[in-house]
Amino acid sequence: MVWYKKLHWQIIGGLILGLVWGLIAAQTGLGTFTSNFIKPFGTIFVYLLELIAVPLVIASLIVGVTNLSDIRKLSRMGGKTIGIYIVTTVIAISIGLLYVNVLKPGKALPVETREQLKESYKDNVADRNKSAEEVLQRGPLDPIVDIVPRNFFAAASNNANMLQVVFVAILLGIGIIQIGKEKAKVLIDFFDSLNDVVIKIVDMIMKFAPLGVFGLMSALIVDLAGNDISQAISLLKALGWYMLTVILGLATHLFITYQVVFKVFSKMKFSRFLKGIRPAMLLGFSTSSSAATLPVTMEQVEKNLGVHEEVSSFVLPVGATVNMDGTSLYQAVAAVFIAQALGLGLDFMQQLTIVVTATLASIGAAGVPGAGIIMLVIVLKAVNVPVEGIALILGVDRILDMLRTAVNITGDAAVCVAVASSENKIEEITTQE
Ligand code: ASP
Repeated sequence: MVWYKKLHWQIIGGLILGLVWGLIAAQTGLGTFTSNFIKPFGTIFVYLLELIAVPLVIASLIVGVTNLSDIRKLSRMGGKTIGIYIVTTVIAISIGLLYVNVLKPGKALPVETREQLKESYKDNVADRNKSAEEVLQRGPLDPIVDIVPRNFFAAASNNANMLQVVFVAILLGIGIIQIGKEKAKVLIDFFDSLNDVVIKIVDMIMKFAPLGVFGLMSALIVDLAGNDISQAISLLKALGWYMLTVILGLATHLFITYQVVFKVFSKMKFSRFLKGIRPAMLLGFSTSSSAATLPVTMEQVEKNLGVHEEVSSFVLPVGATVNMDGTSLYQAVAAVFIAQALGLGLDFMQQLTIVVTATLASIGAAGVPGAGIIMLVIVLKAVNVPVEGIALILGVDRILDMLRTAVNITGDAAVCVAVASSENKIEEITTQE
């Protein structure tokens, strides 16, 4: 295939053109035009992906469960998945803590910039704080209660309830197996065809990806740059060390931790894996949403990497909701950065508290843009760092959100390949998109 016909190049093209257009628009007063006439294409693209996510999870998980010869495999797979998810998250947080303690980006923030930032983001902080308060009011077992919906349609009507959808689909799949082959045939055939239809629709939506990404990127740049690009640049400079610390941590986790996971669990070459999921990583970066990217992650992992549907249809939706290595790493760096900038020291016990709370906070964060910074409030409260401190990092959060989302998605896909390899549920695939 000629290179420019490959999906990931087309998406990269959309990203670059969006960036260029966004900068031109911010300079020439075309910001409103961009918001009114270009951004909607990005919004439609994200809506389409979200639209297909619930039917995709239902159909593919039911097909997956009914294909399992032995239901006990499901609980074994579930145990492995959750185990690797938690271990990689704790490693991610430790990497973040290591970098932030060595590089000390908080000490590099000038005092006057700190005061300015606090003043300009005052109102935004109050909003985030309110959302986090609601989470803090909940009981310890509420997250488990939340997995069980009282009404299926209510669960399926909100993409934030993906775990509930997973729960219902597994229940349905198990029910279908129990009624015997003959009676189940009609349902199995139905979900099988529905699954094929949904996959075709994902293919159609992906044709729209370059334009969608162009719309998302240009709108984002216009929002970030506002009317004064020099102000945006000075913000980037002031928070440069902090951003670099997060980025270094993310890169280390991406290229080293996942590589080790591959060495332990899979025969697949790590470079081949990265190549196979490129489009999903790029979409995670462009949309800042693991949930919206889910249909593409599932498609790439199955089509390009040969993972069987029984595994991907379970591991990936659960991962998009609970496994966020990039987010947890960022939360660790951000919490210590804020403490450093405010002149507060964090002792060993407090850093350990960060490991625990950032793990829980990343599990609790939804796969949508900006969820990580809301849950960061919980981490800050646990170590007695003033919540107002998030004003210091809000200005650049969207950029880091793009990067951490790409890592979140890569983490889900890496664990998916690892579980599939260890369960012998992966095919050798020689051609890739
Ligand atoms: N945007 C991230 C995601 O969807 C969550 C976060 O804000 O960190 O994975």
